[in-house]
Amino acid sequence: MSTIKLRFPTDDKGLVGRECPNNDCTGLFKIKFGTGLEGTDLLCTCPYCGHKASQDEFWTHDQLKLMRSEIKRQVVDPAINQMSQRLERSFRHHRGVTYKANRIGTSLFRYSETDLETDVTCDSCTLRYAIYGVFAFCPDCGRHNSQQILNKNLDVVERMLAMANDADADVAEKIKEDALENVVSAFDGFGREVCRVNANAASEPAEAKEISFQNVAGAERGLRRLFGFDLASCLQADAWQFVKRSFQKRHPFAHKMGVVDDKYVAKADDPHAVVGRKVVVTVDEILKLAGLVRLLGQSLHSHFSGGGGE
Ligand SMILES: [Zn+2]
Ligand SMILES: [Zn+2]
Repeated sequence: MSTIKLRFPTDDKGLVGRECPNNDCTGLFKIKFGTGLEGTDLLCTCPYCGHKASQDEFWTHDQLKLMRSEIKRQVVDPAINQMSQRLERSFRHHRGVTYKANRIGTSLFRYSETDLETDVTCDSCTLRYAIYGVFAFCPDCGRHNSQQILNKNLDVVERMLAMANDADADVAEKIKEDALENVVSAFDGFGREVCRVNANAASEPAEAKEISFQNVAGAERGLRRLFGFDLASCLQADAWQFVKRSFQKRHPFAHKMGVVDDKYVAKADDPHAVVGRKVVVTVDEILKLAGLVRLLGQSLHSHFSGGGGE
């Protein structure tokens, strides 16, 4: 029997749809064949739930419909048509009986690939893939992209700060405030995702999923208690102090138009803080913070690398 050749539609960037076979997930994603790991019998990892299985288990509903319609066209229809024709010929020999066989022809199922939200190129194996949301396991090498996303966000912060140098004073102030906010929220999103995918390694998985990284001192205590991991150990004591103070500076900007209050004075250990005056934050300070947050991210990510998933 001859083999059936099939071409699956791709999106406009050449990516092909995939669907997680795990019934609790069934997440849709896309990959670009020809990028990423090379070799045969490579397993595919679901970017959302981490489920690993053979590539052949990740067909989407549309791809299965296309396969079924093509099998009907190439195998079932010709067999039925052949049978009908034989029947037609045999009837011709019987005088007075007419039979005309109708040829059947199934049309090929057509679909186009769904647009997803984020395009990722794995910084470990170079696979190009697309997902809903932001965070994912690489479908080829299984590496989680949390650190890659953190660093990408910090790159944007650094580019914002470069603009602050040439901007008017009031615009420069706004850029600095946003940059500080973005460093904190990038680290918060990253930290929460790392804890979520590694929650099973924690002494209390439910609590691990609730650690907030906006309060970096609280996150450090949570990681130590639940995972036995010391976040601050990758930094010198004064650098860690600097990170905690910078994270505290976000509060007056987020809630008090940047004006120092008693709570800030009590918590931030900021020698320049005066109640009722504005918090001072400089471009160099946020750049230094971004650099230190990269180190914290690297340290947390490498603590868990090899773990995670399912
Ligand atoms: Zn999945
Ligand atoms: Zn990869």
